Amino acid sequence: MSFYFNYLVILEGVLICGLFGWLSLRMRMVDRSGCLAGLLVGCSVFTFPKDGWKWFTVILVFHLVAAQFTRYKYEAKRKGGFAQEKGGARAWQNVFANGGVAAFLAIGEGLFFNNMFLAGFIGAVGTATADTSATEIVLLYPRNPRSIADLSKEVPPGTSGGVSPLGESATLLGSFIIGLAAWLLGVFTSPEWNFMGVMAIALISGLLGCTVDSVIGATAQGMFRCSICNKTTESKRHCGEPSIYISGCRAIDNNLVNFISTGIGALSAVLVYLLL
Ligand SMILES: [Zn+2]
Repeated sequence: MSFYFNYLVILEGVLICGLFGWLSLRMRMVDRSGCLAGLLVGCSVFTFPKDGWKWFTVILVFHLVAAQFTRYKYEAKRKGGFAQEKGGARAWQNVFANGGVAAFLAIGEGLFFNNMFLAGFIGAVGTATADTSATEIVLLYPRNPRSIADLSKEVPPGTSGGVSPLGESATLLGSFIIGLAAWLLGVFTSPEWNFMGVMAIALISGLLGCTVDSVIGATAQGMFRCSICNKTTESKRHCGEPSIYISGCRAIDNNLVNFISTGIGALSAVLVYLLL
């Protein structure tokens, strides 16, 4: 293991992450805990790998795409009762659920200098982007999605494990954007990594990661019913009151599902990298 710290890069990382953290806080994309978690993820990604600013830019693209999808028709989602709380501002659990695996892989690349970690990173960020895009856009789907565990069964919009053509398209779009960003930035320095190769990594891992997300969401994730508005929800609290347990495992919430699915996205990206 060879590893060195470049103090100038660390300084840059802290300043740039600090700036973006402050902006995200002001724009209410994150709350304070989410901002702190974002600083940890951002600084790891910026400082550990060589040319970490490129990796950081990929994370930034995720951040912007996710914020755009979350804000898109926020009012309509809020009226439907399934908008993100607090105007969509993300807390630390959400930041680590989406960015924890990516940060871990960036540190791995910095320690072991192996592009396998880079592939995994694109898989993790691609899955997080794809999943957020699909989750948010499906809330506006005019027809009910179907459960991935039983495609003949319609489920209410916003239900974990629900799939629809619009959601699948958004999944592909989210992975595509991350693959495109990685390719344009030239994160893979070796010449055999052309456009098709990077896209194969991003699209296959995003699709697999999101499918695992839906399967766990439809089967193992804890589901609750609100005692006030009677809506089925993934939250242990709804309308300010504790909600009633219906099914799944109470400990498995959306953030844990996202963490697992970004891990699976990363793993499948590494496999594609090794096979190509
Ligand atoms: Zn409620």
